[in-house]
Amino acid sequence: SDHSLTYPKSPADMDWASLYPTYAVEDKEQTTSRSHDNDEEEKSTAVKALTKNVEIADIGCGFGGLLFALAPNFPDTLMLGLEIRTSVTEYVQEKVRALRVQNAATGAYQNASCIRANTMKFLPNFFQKAQLTKIFLCFPDPHFKQRKHKARIVSYTLNSEYAYVLKPGAIVYTITDVQDLHEWMKGHFEKHPSFERVEKVFEEGEGKDGEGMDECVRLMRSETEEGKKVTRNNGMKYVACFRRLVDPAWP
Ligand code: SAM
Repeated sequence: SDHSLTYPKSPADMDWASLYPTYAVEDKEQTTSRSHDNDEEEKSTAVKALTKNVEIADIGCGFGGLLFALAPNFPDTLMLGLEIRTSVTEYVQEKVRALRVQNAATGAYQNASCIRANTMKFLPNFFQKAQLTKIFLCFPDPHFKQRKHKARIVSYTLNSEYAYVLKPGAIVYTITDVQDLHEWMKGHFEKHPSFERVEKVFEEGEGKDGEGMDECVRLMRSETEEGKKVTRNNGMKYVACFRRLVDPAWP
Protein backbone atom coordinates (compact mmCIF):
# COMPACT_ATOMS: atom_id res chain seq x y z
CA SER A 1 0.00 0.00 0.00
CA ASP A 2 1.20 3.53 -0.67
CA HIS A 3 -0.87 5.44 1.88
CA SER A 4 2.29 6.70 3.58
CA LEU A 5 3.80 8.10 0.38
CA THR A 6 4.22 11.82 0.08
CA TYR A 7 4.58 13.79 -3.13
CA PRO A 8 6.14 17.15 -3.90
CA LYS A 9 3.59 19.80 -4.89
CA SER A 10 5.68 20.44 -7.99
CA PRO A 11 9.13 19.47 -9.34
CA ALA A 12 10.51 22.67 -7.81
CA ASP A 13 9.45 21.44 -4.35
CA MET A 14 11.57 18.29 -4.58
CA ASP A 15 14.76 18.22 -2.54
CA TRP A 16 16.92 17.25 -5.51
CA ALA A 17 20.09 18.58 -3.88
CA SER A 18 20.11 15.87 -1.21
CA LEU A 19 19.83 13.17 -3.89
CA TYR A 20 22.68 14.52 -6.02
CA PRO A 21 24.83 16.54 -3.60
CA THR A 22 27.79 17.00 -5.93
CA TYR A 23 25.51 18.69 -8.49
CA ALA A 24 23.99 21.06 -5.91
CA VAL A 25 24.67 24.78 -5.89
CA GLU A 26 23.13 27.60 -3.93
CA ASP A 27 20.03 28.94 -5.64
CA LYS A 28 20.69 32.65 -5.11
CA GLU A 29 17.29 33.85 -6.26
CA GLN A 30 15.33 31.51 -3.95
CA THR A 31 17.66 32.04 -1.00
CA THR A 32 17.35 35.81 -1.29
CA SER A 33 13.58 35.82 -1.66
CA ARG A 34 13.20 33.50 1.34
CA SER A 35 15.46 35.56 3.53
CA HIS A 36 13.24 38.58 2.82
CA ASP A 37 10.06 36.96 4.01
CA ASN A 38 11.32 34.72 6.78
CA ASP A 39 12.83 35.09 10.21
CA GLU A 40 16.52 35.33 11.14
CA GLU A 41 16.96 31.63 11.66
CA GLU A 42 15.92 30.75 8.12
CA LYS A 43 18.13 33.40 6.59
CA SER A 44 21.14 31.17 7.10
CA THR A 45 19.70 28.16 5.25
CA ALA A 46 20.64 28.47 1.63
CA VAL A 47 18.21 26.97 -0.87
CA LYS A 48 20.04 24.51 -3.08
CA ALA A 49 19.34 23.78 -6.72
CA LEU A 50 20.98 21.41 -9.18
CA THR A 51 23.25 22.46 -12.01
CA LYS A 52 21.29 20.06 -14.24
CA ASN A 53 18.01 18.18 -14.13
CA VAL A 54 17.36 14.45 -13.98
CA GLU A 55 16.97 13.13 -17.53
CA ILE A 56 16.61 9.37 -17.11
CA ALA A 57 13.88 7.63 -15.08
CA ASP A 58 13.82 3.90 -14.33
CA ILE A 59 10.20 3.19 -13.41
CA GLY A 60 9.87 0.28 -10.97
CA CYS A 61 13.67 0.02 -10.76
CA GLY A 62 13.67 -2.91 -8.32
CA PHE A 63 17.17 -3.54 -6.94
CA GLY A 64 18.73 -1.02 -9.31
CA GLY A 65 20.81 -3.28 -11.57
CA LEU A 66 20.05 -1.15 -14.62
CA LEU A 67 20.77 2.14 -12.83
CA PHE A 68 24.18 0.93 -11.67
CA ALA A 69 25.01 -0.14 -15.23
CA LEU A 70 23.75 3.08 -16.81
CA ALA A 71 25.47 5.45 -14.36
CA PRO A 72 29.06 4.91 -15.60
CA ASN A 73 27.83 4.73 -19.21
CA PHE A 74 26.20 8.16 -19.01
CA PRO A 75 28.47 9.85 -16.46
CA ASP A 76 27.16 13.36 -17.15
CA THR A 77 23.46 12.51 -17.03
CA LEU A 78 21.41 12.44 -13.84
CA MET A 79 19.23 9.36 -13.46
CA LEU A 80 16.57 8.38 -10.95
CA GLY A 81 15.09 5.01 -10.03
CA LEU A 82 11.51 5.06 -8.76
CA GLU A 83 10.39 2.09 -6.70
CA ILE A 84 7.27 1.48 -4.63
CA ARG A 85 8.65 -1.07 -2.13
CA THR A 86 10.23 0.58 0.91
CA SER A 87 12.87 -2.05 1.67
CA VAL A 88 13.90 -2.31 -1.98
CA THR A 89 14.22 1.49 -2.26
CA GLU A 90 16.36 1.53 0.87
CA TYR A 91 18.58 -1.20 -0.56
CA VAL A 92 19.20 0.86 -3.71
CA GLN A 93 19.84 4.04 -1.70
CA GLU A 94 22.31 2.18 0.51
CA LYS A 95 24.10 0.79 -2.55
CA VAL A 96 24.29 4.28 -4.08
CA ARG A 97 25.93 5.55 -0.88
CA ALA A 98 28.44 2.69 -0.82
CA LEU A 99 29.35 3.01 -4.51
CA ARG A 100 29.87 6.75 -4.12
CA VAL A 101 32.25 6.20 -1.20
CA GLN A 102 34.15 3.44 -3.03
CA ASN A 103 34.47 5.64 -6.12
CA ALA A 104 35.13 8.93 -4.35
CA ALA A 105 38.31 9.45 -6.38
CA THR A 106 36.50 9.43 -9.73
CA GLY A 107 33.13 10.79 -8.62
CA ALA A 108 31.34 7.86 -10.28
CA TYR A 109 27.72 7.10 -9.27
CA GLN A 110 27.07 10.67 -8.10
CA ASN A 111 24.66 10.81 -11.05
CA ALA A 112 22.40 7.95 -9.84
CA SER A 113 19.77 8.02 -7.13
CA CYS A 114 16.52 6.36 -6.08
CA ILE A 115 13.31 7.44 -4.40
CA ARG A 116 10.23 5.63 -3.17
CA ALA A 117 7.19 6.51 -5.24
CA ASN A 118 4.10 5.05 -6.80
CA THR A 119 4.73 6.06 -10.40
CA MET A 120 1.10 5.51 -11.29
CA LYS A 121 0.37 8.66 -9.32
CA PHE A 122 1.64 12.21 -9.69
CA LEU A 123 4.58 11.58 -12.06
CA PRO A 124 4.28 15.21 -13.28
CA ASN A 125 4.80 16.34 -9.67
CA PHE A 126 8.34 15.00 -9.89
CA PHE A 127 9.32 15.99 -13.43
CA GLN A 128 8.67 19.09 -15.49
CA LYS A 129 7.19 19.02 -18.93
CA ALA A 130 9.74 17.71 -21.49
CA GLN A 131 12.42 17.13 -18.83
CA LEU A 132 13.27 13.49 -19.52
CA THR A 133 15.19 11.98 -22.44
CA LYS A 134 14.71 8.31 -21.46
CA ILE A 135 12.17 6.31 -19.48
CA PHE A 136 12.74 2.62 -18.74
CA LEU A 137 9.87 0.22 -18.08
CA CYS A 138 11.77 -2.98 -17.43
CA PHE A 139 9.94 -6.21 -16.65
CA PRO A 140 6.91 -4.48 -15.15
CA ASP A 141 4.60 -6.63 -13.03
CA PRO A 142 2.39 -8.43 -15.59
CA HIS A 143 -0.92 -8.46 -13.65
CA PHE A 144 -2.14 -11.40 -15.70
CA LYS A 145 -5.84 -11.42 -14.87
CA GLN A 146 -8.12 -9.27 -16.97
CA ARG A 147 -9.57 -7.46 -13.95
CA LYS A 148 -6.02 -6.59 -12.84
CA HIS A 149 -5.04 -4.97 -16.14
CA LYS A 150 -5.79 -1.53 -14.75
CA ALA A 151 -2.81 -2.01 -12.42
CA ARG A 152 -0.43 -2.21 -15.40
CA ILE A 153 1.99 0.71 -15.66
CA VAL A 154 1.24 1.14 -19.35
CA SER A 155 -2.18 2.50 -20.30
CA TYR A 156 -3.48 5.28 -22.49
CA THR A 157 -3.68 7.65 -19.48
CA LEU A 158 -0.26 6.79 -18.08
CA ASN A 159 1.27 7.05 -21.55
CA SER A 160 -0.04 10.63 -21.68
CA GLU A 161 1.82 11.31 -18.44
CA TYR A 162 4.99 9.76 -19.85
CA ALA A 163 4.50 11.92 -22.97
CA TYR A 164 4.18 15.04 -20.81
CA VAL A 165 7.48 14.51 -18.95
CA LEU A 166 9.41 13.38 -22.06
CA LYS A 167 11.21 15.69 -24.48
CA PRO A 168 10.32 15.32 -28.16
CA GLY A 169 12.77 12.75 -29.55
CA ALA A 170 13.10 11.03 -26.15
CA ILE A 171 12.78 7.24 -25.92
CA VAL A 172 10.62 4.92 -23.81
CA TYR A 173 12.31 1.53 -23.40
CA THR A 174 10.18 -1.51 -22.58
CA ILE A 175 11.20 -5.10 -21.95
CA THR A 176 9.29 -8.09 -20.61
CA ASP A 177 9.36 -11.87 -20.70
CA VAL A 178 5.55 -12.02 -20.89
CA GLN A 179 4.39 -11.96 -24.49
CA ASP A 180 0.88 -10.84 -23.63
CA LEU A 181 2.23 -7.83 -21.71
CA HIS A 182 4.58 -7.04 -24.61
CA GLU A 183 1.61 -6.94 -26.99
CA TRP A 184 -0.30 -4.81 -24.49
CA MET A 185 2.52 -2.25 -24.14
CA LYS A 186 3.11 -2.17 -27.91
CA GLY A 187 -0.58 -1.70 -28.59
CA HIS A 188 -0.97 1.13 -26.10
CA PHE A 189 2.11 3.07 -27.23
CA GLU A 190 1.46 2.52 -30.94
CA LYS A 191 -2.06 3.90 -30.72
CA HIS A 192 -0.97 6.91 -28.63
CA PRO A 193 -0.53 9.97 -30.89
CA SER A 194 2.59 11.14 -28.98
CA PHE A 195 4.65 8.02 -29.74
CA GLU A 196 6.01 6.00 -32.64
CA ARG A 197 7.92 2.72 -32.52
CA VAL A 198 11.64 3.06 -33.29
CA GLU A 199 13.50 1.19 -36.03
CA LYS A 200 13.96 -2.55 -35.55
CA VAL A 201 17.76 -2.33 -35.71
CA PHE A 202 17.74 -0.06 -32.64
CA GLU A 203 15.92 -2.78 -30.66
CA GLU A 204 17.54 -5.89 -32.08
CA GLY A 205 20.75 -4.86 -33.80
CA GLU A 206 21.99 -6.29 -37.07
CA GLY A 207 24.17 -9.35 -37.41
CA LYS A 208 24.78 -11.92 -34.74
CA ASP A 209 26.64 -9.73 -32.23
CA GLY A 210 23.79 -7.30 -31.83
CA GLU A 211 25.79 -4.72 -33.78
CA GLY A 212 23.72 -1.57 -34.24
CA MET A 213 21.62 -2.35 -31.16
CA ASP A 214 21.10 0.65 -28.91
CA GLU A 215 23.40 0.53 -25.87
CA CYS A 216 20.50 1.02 -23.45
CA VAL A 217 18.64 -1.92 -24.98
CA ARG A 218 21.75 -4.03 -24.51
CA LEU A 219 22.01 -2.96 -20.85
CA MET A 220 18.35 -3.50 -20.02
CA ARG A 221 18.50 -6.99 -21.51
CA SER A 222 21.61 -7.97 -19.55
CA GLU A 223 21.86 -5.82 -16.40
CA THR A 224 18.35 -5.77 -14.91
CA GLU A 225 17.83 -8.35 -12.17
CA GLU A 226 14.85 -9.73 -14.08
CA GLY A 227 16.82 -9.84 -17.34
CA LYS A 228 19.47 -11.95 -15.61
CA LYS A 229 16.83 -14.28 -14.21
CA VAL A 230 15.25 -14.77 -17.65
CA THR A 231 18.70 -15.50 -19.14
CA ARG A 232 19.33 -18.16 -16.46
CA ASN A 233 15.99 -19.78 -17.31
CA ASN A 234 16.60 -19.51 -21.09
CA GLY A 235 13.42 -17.44 -21.38
CA MET A 236 12.38 -15.00 -24.12
CA LYS A 237 12.88 -11.25 -23.78
CA TYR A 238 10.54 -8.99 -25.74
CA VAL A 239 11.83 -5.47 -26.36
CA ALA A 240 9.89 -2.51 -27.74
CA CYS A 241 11.03 1.12 -27.81
CA PHE A 242 9.04 4.22 -28.65
CA ARG A 243 10.03 7.73 -29.64
CA ARG A 244 8.25 10.76 -28.21
CA LEU A 245 7.02 12.70 -31.23
CA VAL A 246 6.92 16.46 -31.62
CA ASP A 247 3.42 17.65 -30.79
CA PRO A 248 1.55 18.73 -33.90
CA ALA A 249 1.35 22.51 -34.11
CA TRP A 250 -1.96 24.04 -33.15
CA PRO A 251 -3.92 25.17 -36.19
N1 SAM B 1 12.92 -3.19 -13.28
C1 SAM B 1 13.47 -4.20 -12.40
C2 SAM B 1 14.12 -5.30 -13.20
O1 SAM B 1 13.92 -5.29 -14.43
O2 SAM B 1 14.83 -6.14 -12.65
C3 SAM B 1 12.42 -4.77 -11.45
C4 SAM B 1 11.27 -5.50 -12.08
S1 SAM B 1 10.09 -6.11 -10.89
C5 SAM B 1 9.33 -7.44 -11.69
C6 SAM B 1 8.86 -4.82 -10.91
C7 SAM B 1 9.17 -3.73 -9.92
O3 SAM B 1 8.25 -2.63 -10.08
C8 SAM B 1 9.06 -4.17 -8.49
O4 SAM B 1 10.25 -3.85 -7.81
C9 SAM B 1 7.86 -3.41 -7.95
O5 SAM B 1 7.94 -3.14 -6.57
C10 SAM B 1 7.89 -2.16 -8.79
N2 SAM B 1 6.59 -1.47 -8.94
C11 SAM B 1 5.40 -2.03 -9.21
N3 SAM B 1 4.44 -1.08 -9.29
C12 SAM B 1 5.05 0.12 -9.08
C13 SAM B 1 4.58 1.47 -9.03
N4 SAM B 1 3.30 1.75 -9.23
N5 SAM B 1 5.47 2.45 -8.78
C14 SAM B 1 6.77 2.14 -8.58
N6 SAM B 1 7.27 0.89 -8.62
C15 SAM B 1 6.43 -0.12 -8.86
